[in-house]
Amino acid sequence: MTDAYASLEASVLANEVSQLQQDYDLVASNKMSLDLSRGKPAADQLDLSNGLEDAIGGNFLSENGTDVRNYGGLRGLPEARALGAEIMGVPADNVMAGGNSSLTLMHFVVTTALQHGLWGDHRAWNRSKVKLLTPVPGYDRHFVLSEALGIEMVNIDITETGPDMDQARALVAADPQIKGIWCVPKYSNPTGCTYSDQVVDEIAQLPDAAAADDFIVLWDNAYAVHDLVFPGDTLASLLDAADRAQTADHMVQFGSTSKITFAGGGIAFIASSERVLNALEEHMSYQMIGPDKVNQLRHARFLKGRVGQQMQNHAQLIRPKFEIVLSILEEELGALDIATWTNPRGGYFISLDLLPGLATQVIDMAKEVGLTLTPAGATFPHGNDPQDRNVRIAPTFATLDELKAAMRILTLCVKLASAKKLAA
Ligand code: PLP
Repeated sequence: MTDAYASLEASVLANEVSQLQQDYDLVASNKMSLDLSRGKPAADQLDLSNGLEDAIGGNFLSENGTDVRNYGGLRGLPEARALGAEIMGVPADNVMAGGNSSLTLMHFVVTTALQHGLWGDHRAWNRSKVKLLTPVPGYDRHFVLSEALGIEMVNIDITETGPDMDQARALVAADPQIKGIWCVPKYSNPTGCTYSDQVVDEIAQLPDAAAADDFIVLWDNAYAVHDLVFPGDTLASLLDAADRAQTADHMVQFGSTSKITFAGGGIAFIASSERVLNALEEHMSYQMIGPDKVNQLRHARFLKGRVGQQMQNHAQLIRPKFEIVLSILEEELGALDIATWTNPRGGYFISLDLLPGLATQVIDMAKEVGLTLTPAGATFPHGNDPQDRNVRIAPTFATLDELKAAMRILTLCVKLASAKKLAA
C-alpha cells in the first residue's frame, strides 16, 4: 500500500484493514517480549565507562589536596565543578556538583523555592498557590515531580524552536501564581528540538515579563553533549542571555553524567548565580554534610579532556538504532499520511504523532502482542494527552534485532488502527 489512506476508495481501504488484521493476528499468535519504553543506555554504552573503576587508583587526594574520602564540600570538588562547567557551558564558579541524580537536584531546588525561597529573602513560593509552565509534550518526571509537590501545571505548546513564547509571555504576565517554567533546551525529551537563540533570549527575559517577582527558569540540560551527529546542535548560553537581561538570579540549570557514564552512578550539577547557590547550599546543609566526592573525583579524572570522545563513542553505538527506527517509520508509514515523527540530531527519543485519538489504542494493541511502549499520555501532565496522539519511542536500550522487530509491530499497529478509523 503506497497511497495516503485518506485518499483510498472505501473498498480498497476495507481490503487493507482485513489484510492488516490478518498480519496482526499472525503476530499475536507468535507473541514476543519487546520494550521501547526505556530511555536507558544499553550495556555496551555502560561498558564505555568501565575505566571509572581504575580512575582512583589509590590516590584519594583532589587537585586542591582534599581527601575525598572524608565529609564536607557541599559545592563539590573543584575538578567536578569544572567538569559540570564544561558539560553545561557555564563558568565553574557558577556550578555546584552533587550526587548521582539531577532529578533529585530539581526536586531539591523546587522544594527550596517552596519552603525557603532561592534568594535568602522573604520570597518563598508557598505564600500562595504555585503553578509552573509545562511545554508539552515534555518529560514525564518533571510533571510527576510537580504534581507530587501540589504544583499546578499550565501547558504551553512546544514548537521546533522551543516553547511557544507568545503563549508563555501572555500567561506569566497575567498570573502571579505562575512561578516558573520547565525547560529541556537541547534535544528536548521527547521531541528532540533544540531551543533557538531567540527563544533562549526570550526565556532569559521571562522573569521580567512575569507578574510574579519570584519566577524561575528550571533549565534541565540533560542532553547538553548528547549529539548523534557531529557537529551537533548549538544551544545559546542561557547565562549570557540572563546577564544581558539582568535575570541571572532567576535561572537554575541542571545537568548530569547519567547518560555519559553510568546511569544511576554518575554525578549531577546545578548552575546558577552566587546568590542562588548560597541559598541552595544553606538548605542542603540541613540534609547532608557533603556529596560523594570519591565518585566526583573518579568522574573528573576519567572524563578530563575526553567528554567529546566519550560522546562520539556513545553516538557510534546508538546512531544505528535511531537510523533503524527512522527508516522503518519511513518505509512503513511514509506514504500513508497517518503519522508524523521527529528526526532528532541528539538525545534519547523519537516522538511519533498519530491521528488524533489513536495513541492509547495503538499502545494497547502493541502491548497485546508483546511490545511495551511508554504509556499513552506520559508526555503530558497527569498523563492526559488532550489529542491522545503522542507516542514516545526510546531506541537506545534494545538490540538492533529487537528494534527491527519492535518497529514492524508498532508500524503495523499504527496502520491497522488508522485504517480502521478512516474506514469507520
Ligand atoms: N532530565 C531529562 C530531560 C531526562 O530525560 C532524564 C532521564 O531520562 C533526566 C533528567 C534524569 O537525569 P538524572 O539521571 O541525572 O536524574
